[in-house]
Amino acid sequence: MESDPKYSERFCSPDSDITVSSSDRVLFKLHRTNLGVHSDIFPGVEANIPVQDEIVALEEEASTLELLFQYVYPQRQPDLSKLNVRELALLAEAAEKYSVYSAMEVCRLYMQAAKKRMPMEVLMYAARHGYTELCDEAAPYTLDADAAVALKVMEGDLFKKWMLYREHRLRHHRRIYYSAINLGHTHEFEEADGPEECYLWPPFLWAILQELGKSLVAIHDSESQELFKKHRPMLEDCEECMRRYFSLETSVVTGSFFLPKFTAIQC
Ligand SMILES: [Zn+2]
Repeated sequence: MESDPKYSERFCSPDSDITVSSSDRVLFKLHRTNLGVHSDIFPGVEANIPVQDEIVALEEEASTLELLFQYVYPQRQPDLSKLNVRELALLAEAAEKYSVYSAMEVCRLYMQAAKKRMPMEVLMYAARHGYTELCDEAAPYTLDADAAVALKVMEGDLFKKWMLYREHRLRHHRRIYYSAINLGHTHEFEEADGPEECYLWPPFLWAILQELGKSLVAIHDSESQELFKKHRPMLEDCEECMRRYFSLETSVVTGSFFLPKFTAIQC
């Protein structure tokens, strides 16, 4: 036997003229005027359609609707910094789906801030809703995702585009390895008793290659700059090593700068 529906404690006004049900059977008693002012496409708010005593069933869970409806009433808005990434992604999607304008922009900003914590979700959200810059910001952080998983979750041509985007990064990654190793593991410098190999370069190269091998995200422009800077002190006692360092850093950072952005990929 199905249990009785629960009512939202926050949205239970006795003079409501529309009732909405969440997918997990929580009822929200709302006002069409508020929904109509804040959303163009909210189901049930059309003029001349009597919805008294009818329930509009939505696909979202109560926890998402509880947050969303706070944006259609004049009250303090919820603190999105307290949400976990799943709650945030669901709210951002609902705000877009129902065009709740007062929630859309703040959700976009929080999704942007979450791009490293849930890059794939942010990329899909941005692609679905036409946020071009956010697509390009999130895409580099998706590079370590398993392609089989990406295939399952990405809609339409997004997966093809993502594979082509990743292909450019994979080739760049290979070029970095090749040029780093071909700079030579050692160089010679003159000592009183003849030329000797510099001991600073091999441990530096080893540290860099280890980090590059961990993740494709490391070759993203800002990330790669940080990676190089972090290990630079290992070489600072040797002029020749520093010369090699700048040559390698420039080729990696410049190379990554010229890689096509996600939204520039055609397929
Ligand atoms: Zn050296």
